[in-house]
Amino acid sequence: MSTTTASLYTSELISSLEESATLAISKKVRELKAEGRDVIGLTLGEPDFDTPSHIREAAKQALDDGYTHYPPVAGLNELREAIAAKLQRDNGLSYTAANVMVSTGAKQSLYNVVQCLVNPGDEVIIPAPFWVSYSAMVHIARAKLVQIDTGIDSAYKMSAGQLEAAITPNTRLLMMSTPSNPTGSMYSRADLAALVEVLERHPQVYVICDEIYELLTYGQEHVSLASFASIKDRVITVNGFSKGFAMTGWRLGYIAAAEPIIDVCEKLQGQITSGANAFAMKGAISALTGDMQPSEDMRLAFLERRNLLYDQLRAIDGVEVIMPDGAFYFYPDMKAFLGKKAPDGTVINTTDALCLYLIDEVGLALVPGEAFGTKSHVRISYAYAPAVLSDAVQRLATGLGRLTD
Ligand code: PMP
Ligand code: GLU
Repeated sequence: MSTTTASLYTSELISSLEESATLAISKKVRELKAEGRDVIGLTLGEPDFDTPSHIREAAKQALDDGYTHYPPVAGLNELREAIAAKLQRDNGLSYTAANVMVSTGAKQSLYNVVQCLVNPGDEVIIPAPFWVSYSAMVHIARAKLVQIDTGIDSAYKMSAGQLEAAITPNTRLLMMSTPSNPTGSMYSRADLAALVEVLERHPQVYVICDEIYELLTYGQEHVSLASFASIKDRVITVNGFSKGFAMTGWRLGYIAAAEPIIDVCEKLQGQITSGANAFAMKGAISALTGDMQPSEDMRLAFLERRNLLYDQLRAIDGVEVIMPDGAFYFYPDMKAFLGKKAPDGTVINTTDALCLYLIDEVGLALVPGEAFGTKSHVRISYAYAPAVLSDAVQRLATGLGRLTD
């Protein structure tokens, strides 16, 4: 059955689908700014740096060299080879080009895998907090989301015991990210080894390990789940260019997996997009084979901002925050402020309400935690200039300080 909204007849699926909270609030910030409102948004997970020049040059050259035609659906072979070489070099994973498929952003890579591996009613386990689009993709596949709740005590990481307890004969897929969006937490080798022991006992469970923040880590070693040989054939590694190379607008991501998985994803992609942008893929080859110093410079800038913000956030009474190991987010627990009153008497009961209040009261936009599967957190992106961050924390402290019991 389909539903009708206003005059437009729409599918039940689209009517029941949540808008991406990260993109929706970022759009709201743009609109408020266009109206002339003094608003700072720490909402979007997007590096505030330009794509390094050698990557841009490679794409420009590709245009002149005729990379303006349909590419092979799974990606330019040269790029698939460069990705396989990168996975060997950086992650200790032995793959060939045939184990790699390039898509229009890691978001589409994730979507392809979920659609190809999951049937309606199958169970998909996701540790929460999770990135907003994971749950939406499970919803689109009409699968059942099985959420594992994690807390600040485990640095928002699921334990082997929690994973074991969540698996049933209907479990088909586990979706996780390390470093995590939204918490920045990373699974250590020992953490992963404990999870692998569980997964070895459940051969029907496939795992998406999203490693898109791999290059943005601040001291912890990044370990790929697929480096555990006993489950390698069931792990789909997702990665991309958006974060580590500041290439969000290029829309390029990839998976590495066993060949049968690549084959089915290629079939789906062939019916949906015909593959990623040809000349953008030439730029991506240069990202993987060229100078890594610009990426390292970005990482150091994020590290500095992380340290700055951590001290400033901890100085605000009631904000509970951990030091993230990677990515560029803080995910503070704001439960101390829920149930309090705004100056106009409104009671702030949810983080949605808290974020709306902060926009109205002090012109600060953050992403409410509800969309990430938790009830008392907000997400703060620190992919912004230090001066913006300091101004934002000042506004946060002022806004929170005006709430009363
Ligand atoms: N995975 C995670 C965890 C992310 O935060 C993002 C952010 N965009 C993506 C995947 C998708 O990235 P993109 O589509 O830009 O490659
Ligand atoms: N992944 C980024 C974020 O979480 C980009 C926006 C999106 O695609 O959701 O903000």
